[in-house]
Amino acid sequence: MNPYNYQMCLYHSLTSFCNWNCSYCDFAYKEKKIVEESNLLMYIDWLSKINKSSLEFEIEGGESGLVPEAILDIWFNSNLSSSYQIDTNGLFIKRYYHKYKDKIHYMIYHCISEFESADQEFEKYDIPIEKIDYTVVLHQKNYKQFPALMEKHKDIFWLPHFLQPRRSDLEDYMQPEDYLWLYEKTKDMPHLCSHIKTKCKLLSDPDFFYKGMEKQRIFCARTYTQPLIDLVNMKIYRCAVSISGDYVDLTEINLKRLIQNDITLFPPQEKTCYLCQNSNATHALTDLKSCLKKIL
Ligand code: SF4
Repeated sequence: MNPYNYQMCLYHSLTSFCNWNCSYCDFAYKEKKIVEESNLLMYIDWLSKINKSSLEFEIEGGESGLVPEAILDIWFNSNLSSSYQIDTNGLFIKRYYHKYKDKIHYMIYHCISEFESADQEFEKYDIPIEKIDYTVVLHQKNYKQFPALMEKHKDIFWLPHFLQPRRSDLEDYMQPEDYLWLYEKTKDMPHLCSHIKTKCKLLSDPDFFYKGMEKQRIFCARTYTQPLIDLVNMKIYRCAVSISGDYVDLTEINLKRLIQNDITLFPPQEKTCYLCQNSNATHALTDLKSCLKKIL
């Protein structure tokens, strides 16, 4: 059983290449590999037999805009889901959005790579605002710039992402007092967060902020319901954030077990990502809860 009762979202990787090179990216998107058409067709066939219409489908890294049109035609014409989401740094929007816009339910647009100041330029697109959220990755060195960025661009929805704890740069991710600072600075801004992604209510709704800690991806508290289907290498990864984590081969039987929420597909572990278990995230979580109790 899915212990969190979330609708399952299957994250997919159709290419292992990205045209950006963000310093915080957990993925080494250097390989110019694309999913093979025969593997994609096989995967679609497996999914159609399982037929779970409530699944959400998302394409994330590498950059979706680098996937050839013929592959995207197969993907979007398969009609396996009524909810297709895209992660992009903007290239997909430039190249393909117009063609597939009727199929696309929602896009996360990573608009600035190394976000350092509120004056940085980025491209805005003429797309209904309910279909697109603008994302920057926040960490200890840049989060104080974020409220000014929001003030400057009140015509779009923001979806702040928070740097996940990683072994190499643990000092860079935000601490409880940083979240509280951000919360205080942004709580009255109506345009802070997407209306679509409830997880983004975290800074606009203190109650959600508090409860969301254990369930959502703050401090990388990812659940088993967010696996990554790596169609390039035909693997299923436990976590869509950290492909360095456990994986199993993508086969028809493993896919079926995954979708039926048979979490024994992967070896047992704590509910958070193994990366978090190697960080002080648990302590940070505890501290943050006590801080919030004081101010609420
Ligand atoms: S744009 Fe996204 S996928 Fe590409 S390097 Fe940056 S974080 Fe990684």
